[in-house]
Amino acid sequence: MDEKVTILVTGGSGMLGYALQRVVKVEKRPNEEWIFINSKDGDLRDINQTRKVIEKYMPTHVLHLASAVSGMFRNIKFNSDVLLTNQSINTNVYQVCKDIKVKKLISCLSTCIYPDNVTYPITESMLHNGAPHITSIGYSFSKRMLDVMNRCYRMQYGCNFLSVIPTNLYGPNDNFSLEDAHVIPGLIHKVHRCKKEDTPLIVWGTGKPLRQFIFSYDLAKLMIWAIREYNDEENIFFSVDEDDEISIKELVEIVVEESGFKGDVVFDETKTDGQYKKTVSTAKMRQFLPDFKFTPIREGIRETIRWFEENYETART
Ligand code: NAP
Repeated sequence: MDEKVTILVTGGSGMLGYALQRVVKVEKRPNEEWIFINSKDGDLRDINQTRKVIEKYMPTHVLHLASAVSGMFRNIKFNSDVLLTNQSINTNVYQVCKDIKVKKLISCLSTCIYPDNVTYPITESMLHNGAPHITSIGYSFSKRMLDVMNRCYRMQYGCNFLSVIPTNLYGPNDNFSLEDAHVIPGLIHKVHRCKKEDTPLIVWGTGKPLRQFIFSYDLAKLMIWAIREYNDEENIFFSVDEDDEISIKELVEIVVEESGFKGDVVFDETKTDGQYKKTVSTAKMRQFLPDFKFTPIREGIRETIRWFEENYETART
């Protein structure tokens, strides 16, 4: 019989944690116990609370998702808070996982922390080849430090601490705030409001920039694969392939159609577009998982809109 493993997920109430809980229900193996914690179980910025909650479960494996996560405008306003929150959480989680001899810890970086000036497609090894975009330096450097911590803990203590790097994520239980959300949940909420108020949809920028998006349930499946199978010391991108990159304009069309919005759509070209593209290479992921099938974006958006409409009263708006 397979050895018993206890997998603790920090950030278990967030968008990715929610997706993992659903996928684990179906894909859990008999030798696995999955535990999902959030800030109500313990504030991971505090070392004593971190020690108490992790020692309560004595996990053999940890998926470390807990983090301050926000959109560009909140990042600009609160760079210092985000930096300090994430540094405290990460330092405490790593310290305790080292002390209780966790067999594998996987933390979650993000493709948006990569250097601003790079060649395309971006590959995993370019992480420290230049400064990240200035708007999110707090978030980006706190995440880059996870990669540094993995290397230091491995060198000094022999810990099996690794990271995976997902691209832009969307799905049920996202943050749908109108001021602070990422592009897909922000658009879904805006369209919902325009439909209700019978007003035109104003989209900032030209709609030309290209992005790769990953549905949270697909990422959950990849995270489960990683905690079971992935042991490479080097990071790995989790993203839809380069061919599945879509423009913001196409994305808007999908959200509008799937929401049943019939009003006018106006692109406000006086507003900034941000970076034209941030294409990441999936060559490494495809070496390990050549047949992994991603949910088509229209299907993922349809599911996300359905969740948002059904949970409007309690969703993060
Ligand atoms: P999320 O929805 O914002 O959830 C954040 C989670 O962290 C929540 O469970 C929250 O708990 C927990 N948390 C925050 N502060 C905490 C604290 N002080 N103590 C304990 N727990 C705390 O995040 P997500 O979108 O699921 O992201 C999951 C991971 O993927 C993060 O590491 C993020 O950086 C990474 N990522 C996200 C994206 C994206 O587009 N969202 C893209 C790439 C990578 P409460 O609910 O109790 O507050």
